[in-house]
Amino acid sequence: MRHDHLITSKQFSRADIETVLDYAAEIDADPSAVADRHAGTLLGLLFFEPSTRTKMSFETAMKRLGGDVVDMGSIESSSVKKGETLADTVRVIEGYADALVLRHPKEGAATMASEFVDVPLVNAGDGAGQHPTQTMLDLYTIRENAGLDDLTIGIMGDLKYGRTVHSLAYALTNFDAHQHFISPESLQLPREVVYDLHQQDAPGIREHDSLEEILPSLDVLYVTRIQRERFPDENEYQKVAGEYQIDSDTLEAASDDLTIMHPLPRVDEIAPEIDETEHAAYFEQAHNGVPVRMALLDLLLSDDKAIGGEGDE
Ligand code: ASP
Repeated sequence: MRHDHLITSKQFSRADIETVLDYAAEIDADPSAVADRHAGTLLGLLFFEPSTRTKMSFETAMKRLGGDVVDMGSIESSSVKKGETLADTVRVIEGYADALVLRHPKEGAATMASEFVDVPLVNAGDGAGQHPTQTMLDLYTIRENAGLDDLTIGIMGDLKYGRTVHSLAYALTNFDAHQHFISPESLQLPREVVYDLHQQDAPGIREHDSLEEILPSLDVLYVTRIQRERFPDENEYQKVAGEYQIDSDTLEAASDDLTIMHPLPRVDEIAPEIDETEHAAYFEQAHNGVPVRMALLDLLLSDDKAIGGEGDE
């Protein structure tokens, strides 16, 4: 078994991304071909923050590969409640499982935890940091709907605390995408992310406070939720809550081919009237979590395949 951890989308080269997306498409076309590939394998789920899609799609993916999961359960019912450190928790659970999936409210938690374990550890969201497996399913959905070459994408909403945004923005630099970031000033991308993107020679990085001026040029609009739980001050959240909502009036200026994505859950960013239009790809995006995570798990758990550079032998 390889022992590579998956912590950040910065680990992904273009070749890695293409390998995962091609393999996910193969699995999507014929899941039965891999139904027994990981019989007997156990995936440890450690979720220190709420999750629906990420946790359930990892569980589905592992079971569809023939394996099973062991789940730490809620913080309330685990030893974390007794004051156990994250380092101790992961060291204990690596003795039960062949790979670990960790979600934690603290940025950097996955990097720290990975230093204590030998089995592959997957970051399923570390605070406002990164969410690399979400990025893979986002890229898969973009490729299916708009293609990854010559892409113009708008990424809108909470760019400061949105970990899916940070991960996606880094990964898209592999494809020279034109990236437009739309947010209120207080929720702009962290300056270090903007700096890093420029360091990657990303051709078109632009920041806007309004969608209007660039909407007609977009192939994809990636909408995000304002991450209420990350605001140190509820008053600051109230100042920006409800900004940037998409409804059918907003879309009058959009291209007929515009694809709208959202990592979900949505609060009020996308009006339900959009759901039935050709633009809406967010439920398809959530469903893509299963084949993409099947591909990622198989690649992480197999000796003969490799992705994600870090820790390569
Ligand atoms: N589900 C995504 C995440 O865990 C997006 C969100 O919560 O708004 O980051």
